[in-house]
Amino acid sequence: MRNWKELLRPHILDLKPYSSARDEFSGAAKVFLDANENPFTESNQGWNRYPDPHQVAIKQKLAKLKGVKQDQLFIGNGSDEAIDLLFRIFCEPGKDAVITCPPTYGMYGVSAAIHNVNNVIVPLTDDYQLQPKEILKVANASTKMLFICSPNNPTGNSLRVDDITYLLQNFDGIVIIDEAYIDFSAQESWTSGLTHYPNLVVLQTMSKAWGLASVRIGMAYANAELIAVLDKVKPPYNISGPNQEIVLRALEDAAKKDEEVRQILAERDWLTQKLSSVKGVKQIYPSDANFLLVQVNDAHQKYGQLIERGVVVRDRSNVALCNDCLRITVGTKEENQKMVEELAAL
Ligand code: PMP
Repeated sequence: MRNWKELLRPHILDLKPYSSARDEFSGAAKVFLDANENPFTESNQGWNRYPDPHQVAIKQKLAKLKGVKQDQLFIGNGSDEAIDLLFRIFCEPGKDAVITCPPTYGMYGVSAAIHNVNNVIVPLTDDYQLQPKEILKVANASTKMLFICSPNNPTGNSLRVDDITYLLQNFDGIVIIDEAYIDFSAQESWTSGLTHYPNLVVLQTMSKAWGLASVRIGMAYANAELIAVLDKVKPPYNISGPNQEIVLRALEDAAKKDEEVRQILAERDWLTQKLSSVKGVKQIYPSDANFLLVQVNDAHQKYGQLIERGVVVRDRSNVALCNDCLRITVGTKEENQKMVEELAAL
């Protein structure tokens, strides 16, 4: 197995990151004339100043909450930024490859395309599980990363722990486990594996269970040295000041998030039961996430008809292994009722 540092693009190892004057200064300065900011503070809540580039306050809270060390934690402008930065540090454009396992989150493939990195596809099985042996078969020296999404989007299921463990032990590259939907599942987070697996990166987000999709906060967890490399290449002020404040406030109230997750899970059960008796619904896949993958007759047509009736779901009917499927997010009780009503009326 290659050490994760051997997988880095060589120039990234030597890269000197941007540093601001405030990185160097320590002490009780009162006059800040170092960053070309506008000095006037009236009625702007301090927004005339650049935010903390290291997001220390957020990291202190999150690390405690997640049981990781602060230096094992990277904060991105959504986990999409973490995905982009992982490509930047590990993949040589036009030369390297990654493995993705569709049907899965589309940004892995889009990011690969943006970076001109070969996206080698090893599809999930018919029951939406990984093919670990196939993955190892197609991997070679230029394969840098493997993307695993669990619970998986758009299928909703968690991927088998044994398969993921096997890949962590045998895949000769970086294993990225995307846990965007982990808060809706009973599965344990793979952050507990960080000390065993130096090549592991876990992704999470504040966009789902925490209700902060608009605020754009995603997390990457990995060994401290790898996190330091992500910090080196990120734009210096990637998380805005107002957004840092909003996240800090949300982290004070994990109980609110837990209560909302509880309600979403109860609604997921309700939806599963209701949809099963709607005419034209062929299959509702078990979900560990805040959405359901639902197979219906004439899915594409129904998708359009639902829009005409003011209900937008996600059309996955042309995605391989998701024939005739709609992906339906669990909403409020009223939203779910409206969706079921309209679908039943088609
Ligand atoms: N990973 C998965 C599996 C997702 O479904 C999404 C959002 N749809 C993301 C990552 C991106 O999350 P963020 O809002 O943190 O960029």
